[in-house]
Amino acid sequence: STTHDWAAIRADFPLLTREVHGKPLVYLDSANTGQKPAKVIDTVDDFFRQHNANVSRAVHALGTEATEAYEASRTKLAGFLKAHRDELVLCSGTTFAINIVAYSWALPRLKAGDAILVSRMEHHANIVPWQLVAERTGAVIKVAEIREDGTLDLDALYAAMTPDVKLLALAHVSNVLGTVNPVKEICREARRRGITTVIDGSQAAPHRAVDVPSLGCDFYAITGHKMCGPTGTGALWARREHLAAMPPFLGGGEMIKEVRFAGTVFNDGPHRFEAGTPNIAGHIGLGAAVDYLSAIGMDAIEAREAELLAHANEELRKVDGLRILGEAPEKAAVISFLVAGAHAHDLATLLDLEGVAVRSGQHCAHPLLQFYGVPATCRASFAFYNTHDEIERFVAALRKVRHLLA
Ligand code: PMP
Repeated sequence: STTHDWAAIRADFPLLTREVHGKPLVYLDSANTGQKPAKVIDTVDDFFRQHNANVSRAVHALGTEATEAYEASRTKLAGFLKAHRDELVLCSGTTFAINIVAYSWALPRLKAGDAILVSRMEHHANIVPWQLVAERTGAVIKVAEIREDGTLDLDALYAAMTPDVKLLALAHVSNVLGTVNPVKEICREARRRGITTVIDGSQAAPHRAVDVPSLGCDFYAITGHKMCGPTGTGALWARREHLAAMPPFLGGGEMIKEVRFAGTVFNDGPHRFEAGTPNIAGHIGLGAAVDYLSAIGMDAIEAREAELLAHANEELRKVDGLRILGEAPEKAAVISFLVAGAHAHDLATLLDLEGVAVRSGQHCAHPLLQFYGVPATCRASFAFYNTHDEIERFVAALRKVRHLLA
């Protein structure tokens, strides 16, 4: 990362120059949603000013431009994941992507006596759809437990892969603990046992190079708004044979070849799962985001964020009464913490007055917080555009507000 000018890269993000409550903003909530570089903002703006039209319907020039730009984004996003564009369904984000798998893959297949295995550290987006499927099919949910340090207990996980388990739903990276799960090894074990795998890549794709086919999973979900793209964008990667065998999730325009009242012929490949007018501008913006991230390089981003994480850990450990949840050997730049005698929401509220944006609460991961027996945590999450100076300001602000509360 020494070859990169990180100050210049930070300057690509207009919002990061603003003040909050009269203090320079320190944005440490990128695991919630990421900030956007000017290139992405300009691309969306330019689409509406110069090219706006619907995709795939009109033969006029604007329609062709919009369709080409939208499909070019699919190609870029596929390239980013080392996947094929025919295997990429564009959708509104991870929540939607996982629900496609739930309704189009799991619902028609699962039955009473089957089990869905999920880990303790899942986001609600990778729990609740499976509960809905379980309710309707009679399947049961099984939980793969974690250890105190926030790592998956792999022995327990493999022991839980019994013959009734048809599906494993697992986060690549935990949004609360930062734990990076050994997805490749786990998918290999699942595959040997005939278990289909759904990987939630929301917190992985923005922070490290992800070669989806080499992971050996069946489905991989990503969300655009955490990877410098607009909200309401994302994708489901699925093995071609799955897409071909799955019935559509939503019906409407764009997802059909021919409609007759006697019966409808559905489109092939990803388009079958893209009913209605999509978020055209958003996905074109996501294409620009992928170009932006690729130009910096995901390995450089990973190394930069690892440095920021190490620095933040070192500084936070010096704060009296501070406890960090999640100390996996391989972690993304996410730190969930508690301060003795201070409620997480009070801490976050006072930090905000100092210009520091952290998230407090349960981070859409109630079962994980139940494991640790805590009602809420504060979470500081970092991106490559954060600075070492911001980490120092964050920790200084934390010392100050801790004093007020404890
Ligand atoms: N899974 C994880 C691990 C997440 O961090 C998030 C976003 N908080 C989601 C799923 C939900 O993604 P989306 O915002 O695209 O619905």
